[in-house]
Amino acid sequence: MAVATIVKSNRDLPIAPNLAAYEAVPAEAFWARARRELDGLPGGAGLNIAHEAVDRHAAGARADHLALRWLGRHGGRRDLTFAELGRETSRFANALAGLGLGKGDLVAALAGRIPELYVAALGTLKNRSVFSPLFSAFGPEPIRTRLALGKAKALLTTELLYERKVAALRGSLPHLEHVILVGEGGGETNVPGTHDYRRLLEAASDRFEIGPTDPEDVALVHFTSGTTGTPKGAVHVHGAIVSHHITGKLALDLHPDDVFWCTADPGWVTGTSYGIISPLSNGVTMIADEGDFEAGRWYAILASERVSVWYTAPTAIRMMMKAGIELVREHEYPALRFMASVGEPLHPAGVVWGERAFGLPFHDNWWQTETGGIMIANFASMDIRPGSMGKPVYGVEAGIVHRRENGGVDEVTAVGEQGELALRPGWPSMFRAYIGEPARYAKCFADGWYLTGDLVRCDADGYFWFVGRADDVIKSSGHLIGPFEVESTLLEHPAVAQAGVIGKPDPVAGEIVKAFVAVKPGYEPSRDLEKELLAHARVRLGAVVAPKEIELVEEVPATRSGKIMRRLLKARELGLPEGDVSTLETPE
Ligand code: ATP
Ligand code: MG
Repeated sequence: MAVATIVKSNRDLPIAPNLAAYEAVPAEAFWARARRELDGLPGGAGLNIAHEAVDRHAAGARADHLALRWLGRHGGRRDLTFAELGRETSRFANALAGLGLGKGDLVAALAGRIPELYVAALGTLKNRSVFSPLFSAFGPEPIRTRLALGKAKALLTTELLYERKVAALRGSLPHLEHVILVGEGGGETNVPGTHDYRRLLEAASDRFEIGPTDPEDVALVHFTSGTTGTPKGAVHVHGAIVSHHITGKLALDLHPDDVFWCTADPGWVTGTSYGIISPLSNGVTMIADEGDFEAGRWYAILASERVSVWYTAPTAIRMMMKAGIELVREHEYPALRFMASVGEPLHPAGVVWGERAFGLPFHDNWWQTETGGIMIANFASMDIRPGSMGKPVYGVEAGIVHRRENGGVDEVTAVGEQGELALRPGWPSMFRAYIGEPARYAKCFADGWYLTGDLVRCDADGYFWFVGRADDVIKSSGHLIGPFEVESTLLEHPAVAQAGVIGKPDPVAGEIVKAFVAVKPGYEPSRDLEKELLAHARVRLGAVVAPKEIELVEEVPATRSGKIMRRLLKARELGLPEGDVSTLETPE
């Protein structure tokens, strides 16, 4: 579907965008200039994420500015200014040091979005230990494999999660020396073989001087979503803060008085890069909501917290669309001025729904666990072509390539030709390794490019369009079909809530396009509806690209980070083993 371009004019924006015009920024020396927006450790002692995110503001003009507003699942809130966050994170850093943990030691966290998680993340970075967040709904086995792979020396978790999932694993985790427990509601704990968070912090000093930190020192290990296979542990360094900071400023347009809400869980890279580090580094107030997605709750938060910049994901946008626009109308959002989305392709209907619901389009942007920060974006000052991911961030050279049999690549030069998105290594938040898997890491690079595994095309004006994951692309009767286009078209039908599209092996065509569709409340799955959807897709996409088969399902399988798991749809379709499903969203 060609949805009309959304034309932007800076005059219509409530505040001048940080990036006045895409063309205005010279790409030369971009990262060096971005680095100068940061302070660096006092005395030239290097670059540390926690110093930029917390300590420099705690010691400066923003000391009393609200840094973190935490909203409890069942009501209740906790506010921390930059100064308070500085002291809390120093206590945590001192506590770690007191336990004998130091530079390079891995500290994992397994917790919901509780205040202690945020303190632990930043305190760990202050101590120059390596922070690795794990999603709290993981079962024991995914927790064990990730802790073992990272050789975690310490784990921050809650009493409840420990007893349910971790206690029985201790014997098989010889590296795990310390477990720090947060009690229910932040209360004290008394579990043998563990430390109590509250007592540990109370006994620790609230002053901590960050030691010398090289920008290449390891800071974070993030596990990928496992959409295409076994999750990988991407290693990131302190120098990544340059990307985190500048992309928050330019691609999310963060201004000093913003209230920013990133809805992602810190268990995924988005929830750390933009749910902790980037907003704090930019000195803005960030919201952390402990509760799960619930359309009404989210609208109430947007309105009552006066959120001005909101960063969410297509899966949530689809759920909001499913819940209906009337619910949006129960509040007003005068403060809201910029909305962005990441994690999956954002279908044009989602971008446009933003305008109908909030008077603002969603700005799609693209990146991965491996890239550590936003790489391609729809900037505030740029016209939006719904369905496009936008244009590369400055200092990021994006190319399109075909892999050759011999391991090299050929660059695509023809406008509109699809190929694999490739990035020229050198941006600060690039991953430096897959933990424990050097061969898998090496395979990501060829002829001076990092190969992303995603297929895209670029139009004559430099906008990038997502086609599909290389693994998901469908080859039907000699045509290459990206599932995204087919799913987007299905989602334009009023009955469709979720759609997942795969190639189903076929003796004649090689593969045929098959769609799995979950319907919205109020619609009954029926043979007639299937036919109607087939016809709808055929009219819009043509016979070659439209699905040949549609199966109505209760739920389209997705990862906990909200990505459609097409490999699982395919495995189930073919009756094959399901592979690694550690990140599959399952009812609790
Ligand atoms: P795994 O690598 O383990 O299979 P994953 O790739 O889903 O998991 P993430 O790093 O969390 O893990 O997700 C990054 C991927 O998400 C991208 O490579 C891309 O396929 C998809 N993605 C992210 N943002 C967008 C976007 N704006 N448009 C299209 N796809 C996106
Ligand atoms: Mg990936």
